[in-house]
Amino acid sequence: MRICGVKGVSLIDYPGRIAAVLFLGGCNYRCPFCQNPGLVLHPESLPEHGLDDTLRAIERRKRLIDGVVVTGGEPLIHGEALVALFRRIRETGLAVKLDTNGYEVELLRRVLEERMVDYVAMDVKSAPEKYETAAGRMLDVARIEESIAVIRESGVDHEFRTTCVPGVVEESDVVSIASLLGEGERYVLQQFQATSDLIEPAYCDVKPYPVEVLRSFAVRIRPIVGYVAVRGV
Ligand code: SF4
Repeated sequence: MRICGVKGVSLIDYPGRIAAVLFLGGCNYRCPFCQNPGLVLHPESLPEHGLDDTLRAIERRKRLIDGVVVTGGEPLIHGEALVALFRRIRETGLAVKLDTNGYEVELLRRVLEERMVDYVAMDVKSAPEKYETAAGRMLDVARIEESIAVIRESGVDHEFRTTCVPGVVEESDVVSIASLLGEGERYVLQQFQATSDLIEPAYCDVKPYPVEVLRSFAVRIRPIVGYVAVRGV
């Protein structure tokens, strides 16, 4: 496991908290619209932040922050090394948030059952029939549905979120995802950012949805899921 990036203070990555953010290299997906190709494809080429130094820096910031976000890439591919990281962060007394794509459902279940984190945000990439396109690989969609159920039943604070990429996530897909999540959930629609460095260069030319379209998606699914927010607009 390699810590490839550290953000010392973030106001936007942990709802309701000011948090440091740790970016772990490597991912089990290849989402064509991913904005972190280096982190996903070549984490070994990025500078490594040592764990002890990183945790010391977090300790020093404790008067500024009240949480730590562990994100990627995909943190749950790191198995016991990730468990050890959560334990070390727990020792600081700060709240812990996990960002995940939810594919490693076995470790996700353990992390939640053992209360290693205080908040989990799971990306739901698209409707089941479009999942392989969205994730850029063949996969077993049943694992995604299982992770949604594990998170819903965990009692741990959480949100589900979808990056609304035109062509990958249409209104009907958002409705399908909302139906999978069910009532009483917090669901965030994220704006797609078409930068010049994505895993699949063809996606650099995709035009993001106008804000009004994302808001209309939110209005459509609010009766299904309960709470919907639009982020990144
Ligand atoms: S957007 Fe996809 S490929 Fe990129 S880090 Fe997230 S899950 Fe991995």
